[in-house]
Amino acid sequence: MYPDSFDYHRPESVEEALDMLADNPGAELLAGGHSLLPTMKSGLSSPDSLVDISEVDDLTGIEYGEETITVGAATTYATVVDDDQLWEENTVIAETTHAVGDKQVRNRGTFGGNLAHSDPASDLPAAALAADVTVHVQGPDGERAIPIDDFFHGMYANDIAEDEILTAVEIPRQPDASGAYVKKPSPSSGYALVGVAANLQAEDGTLTDVRIAANGVMDHGVRLGPVEDALTGESVDSLSSEEIEDAAAHAPDDLDEFMVMDDMQASPEFRLQLLKVYTEDAVEAALDSL
Ligand SMILES: Cc1cc2nc3c(=O)[nH]c(=O)nc-3n(C[C@H](O)[C@H](O)[C@H](O)COP(=O)(O)OP(=O)(O)OC[C@H]3O[C@@H](n4cnc5c(N)ncnc54)[C@H](O)[C@@H]3O)c2cc1C
Repeated sequence: MYPDSFDYHRPESVEEALDMLADNPGAELLAGGHSLLPTMKSGLSSPDSLVDISEVDDLTGIEYGEETITVGAATTYATVVDDDQLWEENTVIAETTHAVGDKQVRNRGTFGGNLAHSDPASDLPAAALAADVTVHVQGPDGERAIPIDDFFHGMYANDIAEDEILTAVEIPRQPDASGAYVKKPSPSSGYALVGVAANLQAEDGTLTDVRIAANGVMDHGVRLGPVEDALTGESVDSLSSEEIEDAAAHAPDDLDEFMVMDDMQASPEFRLQLLKVYTEDAVEAALDSL
């Protein structure tokens, strides 16, 4: 199908993009277009104008600061995956970005677009929660930094206001942490039926910082607090497979069972079963390389 007609704007800076949003009520930002254009072609969305931020220099690229890595919102997944240093310094983000779609999707889709879209079945929300990133946005009133734990509000809903642009994602540099992402992909689309990201840090052989999060289960990415609590303080070397399985069995404990995703691809019961198994797998994989 063809989308309805729309005006097209291509700003050269974030400020210009913000002005274009203000001047064109109902305008949508266009980044990689891999979520927006399908909804326009299927008639689910019909914005009067698009503000294409994919070529804004300030929004692209990866910068290493003293303690954090800043990924510009319009940086493609491919650029992130090709960054060898990122694999060293934040495995969970690198591994999850590599799991998004296929090569064509990764060549065009953007890191910031994924989080801004907040699709419950996307891969990056779990990794962003597990890595404890900070999301930076800019609007008419200036810049804001949003801790990822406060970012997701619901299905396709987050803390970005309509007149704001997600400008960058700040990721902790964690060369000593070990991260892993595993997912049960939808056989038709590759999106996560369930995906689990684990990010583990240890001190003197004891797990001190455990962050585990899931996609595809609820209407937005969620931390799995009871699993984190069960593993924190455990000894890396003496954790048995049974203990990891027991910890993973707590994955659904804090989740509202009536709000678990239910669609033609998987029932809530099946999703919760997958959640336990994939949580166990993610923790095992992260422990293997700690
Ligand atoms: C065939 C196919 C397979 C896919 N498989 C997967 C998969 O396995 N896993 C996965 O996670 N995703 C998958 N995707 C989705 C893909 O990752 C998209 O790239 C992503 O969801 C959105 O990023 P985008 O840059 O394409 O954003 P766009 O489609 O351009 O925009 C999406 C929405 O976010 C808004 N937006 C974009 N950038 C910003 C910004 N900087 N600030 C504020 N708002 C912004 C737009 O206005 C729009 O509403 C797939 C897509 C396709 C077509």
